[in-house]
Amino acid sequence: MSKNADIAALFDQFVMPTYAPSVTLVRGQGCKVWDADGMVYLDFAAGIAVQNVGHAHPKVVQAVQDQMATLNHCSNHFYTANQALLAQRLSRLSLNGKCFFCNSGAEANEGLVKLARLWGHQEERYEVITMLNSFHGRTLGMIAATGQSKVQKGFDPLPLGFAHAEFNNLDSVSEQINKHTVAVLVEAVQGEGGVIPATIEFMKGLRQLCDANKLLLLCDEIQCGMGRTGSWFGWQRYGIQPDAFSLAKALASGVPMGAVVASPKLSDVFQPGSHGTTFGGNPLACAAALATIDVIENEGLLKRASEAGAMLRDGLQQFVEKYDQVLEVRGEGLMTGMVLDVPAKDLIAKCREMGLLCLSAGEYVVRFVPPLTIKDDELDEAMDILDEALEMLYGEEAGEGEKATE
Ligand SMILES: *Cc1c(COP(=O)(O)O)cnc(C)c1O
Repeated sequence: MSKNADIAALFDQFVMPTYAPSVTLVRGQGCKVWDADGMVYLDFAAGIAVQNVGHAHPKVVQAVQDQMATLNHCSNHFYTANQALLAQRLSRLSLNGKCFFCNSGAEANEGLVKLARLWGHQEERYEVITMLNSFHGRTLGMIAATGQSKVQKGFDPLPLGFAHAEFNNLDSVSEQINKHTVAVLVEAVQGEGGVIPATIEFMKGLRQLCDANKLLLLCDEIQCGMGRTGSWFGWQRYGIQPDAFSLAKALASGVPMGAVVASPKLSDVFQPGSHGTTFGGNPLACAAALATIDVIENEGLLKRASEAGAMLRDGLQQFVEKYDQVLEVRGEGLMTGMVLDVPAKDLIAKCREMGLLCLSAGEYVVRFVPPLTIKDDELDEAMDILDEALEMLYGEEAGEGEKATE
């Protein structure tokens, strides 16, 4: 029971088929992962934008091991230093208010929405405007929030209190405002929706629109936060501040953790009994997050994300010239998408066979979210693999190549 195929067979027998996994991974180090048959891959998926400091970073490993052996969990009925220190770090990096900790992205967004509803409750304002093509998680609340019908199908009745507007279209958001509207929730860079950055005009316009209508501006930073775009948080690239935002994914380097980070205006809306979760902010997860923030700071990973992201997009841009099937390259920092006019899954599978892991974002976009620690030579290697994979699938001789292998 140690090879890819054996583990896959056992897995498929006992684990619900909510995903369609490919190979079995057994180890990760930096930007590389190994499968159960011993093959090594460059990891441009990074656990879906989770391993921003790379797999098994020694500082994170040490912090987690030490904390596990000291006090890993004690419930929120007790103070812990780690939770206080982490909240302080996140607050100082962003809105100078307070934080709430939970265990996943969907749960962090639920927290944002509950916070907004409690804030608007006296005025009977509860509706949150989200964007079409967004992604906010898989709880019932968050599939209602998500502006994509594919995540909602079969799960009705959906919770009420969400309206959807067009991303990067201020008028469309304006049109959705009514007397019950309390907030607008937006990703600075839509992730699952296809790696689409918000425009400056849209984000600045949203801030003004929210101020003019007494609405909260909420950002979902679950994918674009924690240095991914070259700033700590995606909204920082727009010269605006949200009233609160959510984090998860890279926050604790793979120890499950989410957070709601609020401005002072929203910092004392929740009171004892308003909201909670058993595991949220336990000393283990907070130790992992504190170590993650230290590594991002000490290793200059914001700058690296910008530099490496620019290099990556330059490299990918060549494929737009070279292959008819590659239409466009877009993104911010190391959150990059390559838009195809054919389904992305074939290229992703071909890359995997050749030792490069990447993701799709929607049907036609290949998404690259490598660790922010990615080295120049690893970027070069990924470009070589991609070029070869594109050549095999879509090059001039691709048709003949197919025949030859038949
Ligand atoms: C992944 C993601 C979520 C959901 O996070 P989970 O931890 O899977 O619940 C929400 N919003 C965005 C933008 C995401 O990328």
